[in-house]
Amino acid sequence: LGTLSSKSTSELMSVQSALNALLEHFNPLPAEIIPVQKAIGRVTSNDIASPIDLPPFPNSGMDGFAVRAQDTAMASSASPVQLDVIADIPAGSSSNVKVKIRQAARVMTGGLIPSGADAVVPVEDTNVMSRNPGIAAPPIVDIYKPVMASEHIRHQGQDVRIGERVIISGTLIRPQEIGFLSMLGISEISVIRKPRVAVFSTGNELLPVNAVLTSSKIHDANTNMIVSLVEQYGGEALSLGIVTDEIENVKYTLDMAAASMVDMIVSSAGVSVGAFDYVRSVVEEHGKLQFWRVNMRPGKPVAFGIYRNIPFLGLPGNPVSAFTGFEVFGRPALMKMSGLNNFDIPIENVYLLETIESDGRESYLRAVVSRNGEKLMARLTGHQGSGNLHSLVQANALLVIPSGVKSVPAGTRVDAWIIGSMQ
Ligand code: AMP
Ligand code: MG
Repeated sequence: LGTLSSKSTSELMSVQSALNALLEHFNPLPAEIIPVQKAIGRVTSNDIASPIDLPPFPNSGMDGFAVRAQDTAMASSASPVQLDVIADIPAGSSSNVKVKIRQAARVMTGGLIPSGADAVVPVEDTNVMSRNPGIAAPPIVDIYKPVMASEHIRHQGQDVRIGERVIISGTLIRPQEIGFLSMLGISEISVIRKPRVAVFSTGNELLPVNAVLTSSKIHDANTNMIVSLVEQYGGEALSLGIVTDEIENVKYTLDMAAASMVDMIVSSAGVSVGAFDYVRSVVEEHGKLQFWRVNMRPGKPVAFGIYRNIPFLGLPGNPVSAFTGFEVFGRPALMKMSGLNNFDIPIENVYLLETIESDGRESYLRAVVSRNGEKLMARLTGHQGSGNLHSLVQANALLVIPSGVKSVPAGTRVDAWIIGSMQ
């Protein structure tokens, strides 16, 4: 089996050095221009400067009356100040009136502030409370309260100045960025193209999800799960389905993946030391194996290499190992290709509610994290066997127990990757 497999556990490559070695083979992908309304989850490839001021013109923050603040200085409800209403300015209407001494213009929220006015008196502080549609502005308004200059005015450029850098390269676009870019009148943006990932599973025991189980067979969980992980982290998956445990079929599938110009190939199973585990040996023979076996649990037999110039990640077959291996290695690779500035996984510090035994490998344990006042508390979910997906489904976190640690007493604080919502 060669030198790689003869290493003892203590000599296994650490997760961090394996990840560093892997990430060297990935770079941000080229950019493409897309419509802003399609940009959710994409990553900007350039800085974006604002083409306009926001707000683009001074406008009212309230339904009220645009006034000269000094005219309202003596106003009170006992002796209101009376102003002549010279215009009615709904949002969206332009107006070239000028508000002069002892004059006002009715203005709705978002309406243009006419020249001469420097403040807005909200309708609540006048005798004209009604905002019902169709009610005309009165000829005179009673002001019950003074306003200060600038009060309730949203000044031009208050939020953003023309030319200001408002979004930096490497930003993940969320709905709020889409709203913001739309408000700036930016209809297309330059983003990193989506990483394309070929996914297949190997194993003679595997049947498609819609097949009826027969003796000694199981449904293929990994293909759909890995495809979904790829999509969740911003990639486009090419699902190549199930491949039998035969060298020719494994090679044929890897060649097909390579020919389809993907940015990464992810397989599951066939990378362990079983008599029919051909995936790693095909990559070793026809490509280049960078590493195999990492000091982690679950997921030790994970393999990484280059096949026909395309990075190849060979995940172990046990579904929880495949999931964990993807989170640890596949996710950062996708994020780096996507051009994100930061692809660290969000970690919370949690208190253990129970003592945990580990075997010295860096361990990722399925757990439920819940909030107790200020503290986050963690307990393990069900059976931690790497084939048991149910306990992964019940978990909202993976507790990370560092390598070299064999037992962690209850009450200790450990790192947790949050992978679901908290109860
Ligand atoms: P292997 O890595 O091929 O030794 O597989 C390890 C374990 O994972 C075996 O019990 C397989 O049956 C199981 N397994 C492999 N591939 C899948 C899959 N796609 N879906 C569900 N279980 C799988
Ligand atoms: Mg197998």
